[in-house]
Amino acid sequence: MSKCPPKYQLAIVGAGAVGLFLGICLEQVGISCVILEKREEVRKGSRSLGIHPTSLELFAKLNIADNFTQQGIKITNGHAFSNTKKLGTLSFEQCTKPFNFILALPQERTEKILQDELNKRNPNIIKRGAKVSSITQNKQQAIVSFHYRGKQQKVNADYVIGCDGKNSMVRQQMDSSFDGRSYPDTYIMGDFDDNTEFGTDAAIFLCDEGLIESFPLPKQKRRWVIKTDQYIKNPNRADILDRLQNRIAHSLAGATHSMLSSFGVQKLVAHPMVDNRIILVGDSAHVVSPIGGQGMNLGWLGAWKLAESFHHIFNKGEKADANLKDFENEHTVTTRNCMRRAELNMRLGRRVAFPSARNLVVKAMLQKPISKLMAKLFTMRGIDRWII
Ligand SMILES: Cc1cc2nc3c(=O)[nH]c(=O)nc-3n(C[C@H](O)[C@H](O)[C@H](O)COP(=O)(O)OP(=O)(O)OC[C@H]3O[C@@H](n4cnc5c(N)ncnc54)[C@H](O)[C@@H]3O)c2cc1C
Repeated sequence: MSKCPPKYQLAIVGAGAVGLFLGICLEQVGISCVILEKREEVRKGSRSLGIHPTSLELFAKLNIADNFTQQGIKITNGHAFSNTKKLGTLSFEQCTKPFNFILALPQERTEKILQDELNKRNPNIIKRGAKVSSITQNKQQAIVSFHYRGKQQKVNADYVIGCDGKNSMVRQQMDSSFDGRSYPDTYIMGDFDDNTEFGTDAAIFLCDEGLIESFPLPKQKRRWVIKTDQYIKNPNRADILDRLQNRIAHSLAGATHSMLSSFGVQKLVAHPMVDNRIILVGDSAHVVSPIGGQGMNLGWLGAWKLAESFHHIFNKGEKADANLKDFENEHTVTTRNCMRRAELNMRLGRRVAFPSARNLVVKAMLQKPISKLMAKLFTMRGIDRWII
């Protein structure tokens, strides 16, 4: 007789930042799940660095916020320059306490903290080295097939959640479209020893030759993000050093670097995000511009809402269809708001015909009372509503 596959309430595909966070949320409300992850270890290298107050508040509800704040750098101020001329400073300290800052932490460390927290709660929940190859669903359940230690295996679940990133196979299996567009904007970035005077502050330079952003990182490092005229596939040190020298006369000559990369920008949304027993969250459901640092935070907001929906479905016996439809509608609004804000961030960094007019607008944005609204906009406050 063949052995029945194990059965869970939920099966999550992907243990990236969003899948791990969703796992913790589900453990909190006692919903059984397994996380299938093809990688043997947490992904190396740094992509995201910004954790917004909205996410820290969710972490606090899960009692994990301290782990992050102890390891990350609290950014409380962002300085704006036109080339090298200072326009003003935006303080996040005017936002709601206690998380009146953006926390800078490389994504690799963020995922390590989430994984450790999840393992503390349930050491058997993550199955690493499990590459999901197909998903089928019927009225009663979903069946996930995956390759693990040289064998094809299956698990059954009431629902499957695709947290498997931008090139999601789960999304392909549910035949959801991924609509949107690519922007012309391209960037290079690198993490270097910090040889600036900015300390724990961020700085944004609106240069005639293109935007430069600069963020503090743990261990006395600093990330530089630089707008380029075209996509540079494999940037080298000189690509960063030359542009910094030419645009803002800052030299990184003696500073060692730990990461160099480049990226283009897209906005993409999955439609639908929910198909009966298969649901998408995180980058599998939406991709937003990294300028403004919202993608992972948006994924966490979605995961939190989804965990609440499942709490209502499994623990309170409410109707699944209505709850999942609400989740999809609400999260689509949040995603669209997030994309609008990302677009505003990118527009600010583009070349303009009249820099002096743009500078006047930026200066006004940095003055009270508008600065308070700006601080909220840049920290993802009110992202799930039309008016913040
Ligand atoms: C340059 C850059 C900077 C960024 N900066 C920020 C920032 O400052 N703030 C921010 O909020 N966001 C930022 N982002 C976005 C952020 O990195 C993503 O939104 C985030 O990684 C999405 O997490 P995820 O878990 O949804 O997907 P991913 O991180 O892509 O994780 C998906 C996981 O699924 C696994 N997987 C895939 N297919 C399968 C399969 N078939 N079977 C099993 N497992 C599978 C993968 O191995 C991976 O571990 C940035 C992105 C870039 C590129």
